[in-house]
Amino acid sequence: MDIWIALLAVAVVGAVGWSLRLRRRLRRSERDRRRAADELNRRLSELFSLQELSFILSGSLQLDRIVEQVVRYAMRFLDAQGALVALAPDGEAGAAGGGEGREDRPLLRVTAADGTLAALAGRSIGADDPGLVVRSLGRERLELVRNSGGEPTRLVADVQADSAAAVPLRAHGVVVGTLVIANPRGGVFASEDIRLLSTVATHAAIVIANARFFEMVRHAKEQWETAFDSLSEGIAVVDDAGRVRRANRSFAAMLGAPIPDVIGRELIEALVGPSPPLVDLLAAARGGDRVQPIVLRSTTLGRAIRVTAARIPAPAHDQSVVVLVEDVTDQQAMESHLIQSEKLAAVGQLVSGVAHELNNPLTSIAGLSEFLLEQKDLGAKDRGHLRVIHEQADRAGRIVRNLLTFARKGPAEQAPVDLNDVIQRTLLLMSYDLTLKDIAVEKDLGTLPPVLGDRHALQQVLLNLLNNAAQAVAENPPERPRVIRLATWFDDRVRMKVADSGPGIPDDVLPHVFTPFFTTKEPGQGTGLGLSITYSIVEAHGGRVGVERPPEGGAAFLVDLPAAPADAALHATPVPEPAPAPPTAKRAILLVDDDPAVRRMVKALFGREGHTVDVARNAQHGLDLAGARAYDLILADAQARARDQLFVTRLVEAYPALRDRVLVATGDVRPGSDDALTRLGLRYVRKPFNLRDLRDEAARVWAAGALS
Ligand code: ADP
Repeated sequence: MDIWIALLAVAVVGAVGWSLRLRRRLRRSERDRRRAADELNRRLSELFSLQELSFILSGSLQLDRIVEQVVRYAMRFLDAQGALVALAPDGEAGAAGGGEGREDRPLLRVTAADGTLAALAGRSIGADDPGLVVRSLGRERLELVRNSGGEPTRLVADVQADSAAAVPLRAHGVVVGTLVIANPRGGVFASEDIRLLSTVATHAAIVIANARFFEMVRHAKEQWETAFDSLSEGIAVVDDAGRVRRANRSFAAMLGAPIPDVIGRELIEALVGPSPPLVDLLAAARGGDRVQPIVLRSTTLGRAIRVTAARIPAPAHDQSVVVLVEDVTDQQAMESHLIQSEKLAAVGQLVSGVAHELNNPLTSIAGLSEFLLEQKDLGAKDRGHLRVIHEQADRAGRIVRNLLTFARKGPAEQAPVDLNDVIQRTLLLMSYDLTLKDIAVEKDLGTLPPVLGDRHALQQVLLNLLNNAAQAVAENPPERPRVIRLATWFDDRVRMKVADSGPGIPDDVLPHVFTPFFTTKEPGQGTGLGLSITYSIVEAHGGRVGVERPPEGGAAFLVDLPAAPADAALHATPVPEPAPAPPTAKRAILLVDDDPAVRRMVKALFGREGHTVDVARNAQHGLDLAGARAYDLILADAQARARDQLFVTRLVEAYPALRDRVLVATGDVRPGSDDALTRLGLRYVRKPFNLRDLRDEAARVWAAGALS
């Protein structure tokens, strides 16, 4: 029995011991389970936080935002008191680890900082800084400083922390900066903390490097686009189908539309309309050929353009080309202006020589025929013949005068001229002719400043343009109105437009209209000099004349002239005083002219009026006579020379008192340009002259002599 009791007791004791052990084991395993669950929770929370960080970082390419998030999350993961990210300045990456010899530039800049380190945000840190931040850069791995009550650690020269970790941010083999954590929870970094920090740093470094690349590319793109847009040439990227995919501002401006409206348009159509040469050029460029630029006249744009194209290096299936379009209208106009000027100058020289030679014979034919016409005892038939001779000589004289106008180099006078006034007077002059031809004139005259020049020459310009316009509209079929439109306005220049509703100027005629002697008119209707004279006159006034073919038909001539400078009124040439009444007194006249026909005519004219005329055989003889006898008038040819010097110059030098008695006969249309005439201030009469001109000028000389 006792045995059984003893056995039971042993069993009970054993069971109690077993149960105690079991309970202990259970408690231990419960602790382990809780620890494992905590660890798991922590890991899961870290994982989620890491995922969250990844998500945030991958969603942004903004460097500042990325760095701020890295600092915030790192602080949260480690429950730390402070964190910062310092980055090497752009372009410094890679050299950041070295740092030697770069003390003049900051090695790092604190791009984001939070918590106890927030004050460091924006701070530059030099390579010589003794703190942990700079030190960590040279290391491959995380730099950890654990302090347990000892000396605090310097993060930068003047900022300390009890414990800190710094991990270099390394991406693509380059250190871009460092991530620093100060005073984590409990003052120590657990090994899991360090692992976590490394993971964050690796991930952050890659995102930061990518954001920087993105910045670089964006910046380069911006620079390129600015350059692209600031070019004066139009540039367009054109796809395989010939449509504009990209365009710069100049290109859009050429088409007169904003850039978005240009995209998608068919390039050739938009630029020039159908153009086989441009189709060929684009095809050649697509094929990779180096193409020669072509110049096209675009009727769509009303401009001349130079186009070139090149293939954009791209995958074979993409055959986009970049097309460069240059507006060469002004350049072409300048070139043709230059050619025109040179051509005119060459022809002008020839013409002026011929015209001068014709002057004397014409003067004597016109003068003598006029002289004979004044005879009373002439038969009617002879008078008729003589009138024809006189008219034809007069006509030839006008042609010669035109030739000389064309050949001269500068305006005869330099006075302020109101162009609107010239227009009104010219229209008045032509009003009879215009009414006769049933031509309507529409005027739109703006307010103009004066131009500086020769009123008569400018009137000639207007006469030429209006004559051409009148002749053109006179050919219109009855149903087409006969209209000449005259407009003036002022922007930076004084501008005038003479447009007509005539048949217009055909393509093959247009390039030649300003060429001297070019005419499409019947003999007797045109000499082909009108527009070349116009051109020379306008050019001599510092202006330009151009021709246009308005879309509504007809022709339009555009003249632009510089406005007279503000002080131009000071240089105004006085209007010549009216000719005094013919003199009755008998005068002594000396005539110096090499041409016997001219001498004969002048002698006949003045002789008949009772004056005595002495004729000098040559200039020297003229000087001798002038010294020997008192003359009321000395009529001298401008070209007469005595011993290599102009007769008039020698005469005035030798006898200054005779200056007011001299009348110079000159063939030059702008006698004012002749040095001697200007310098000596001599009166002149233009060759070929008619009797009235000669009488009037002589009367003026005598009137001036009577006053003095
Ligand atoms: P001309 O009038 O003596 O022929 P121009 O030099 O004035 O000489 O003109 C040269 C040519 O230019 C003319 O023959 C004519 O063919 C052309 N032309 C000039 N003006 C006009 C116009 N308004 N309309 C059509 N053609 C014109």
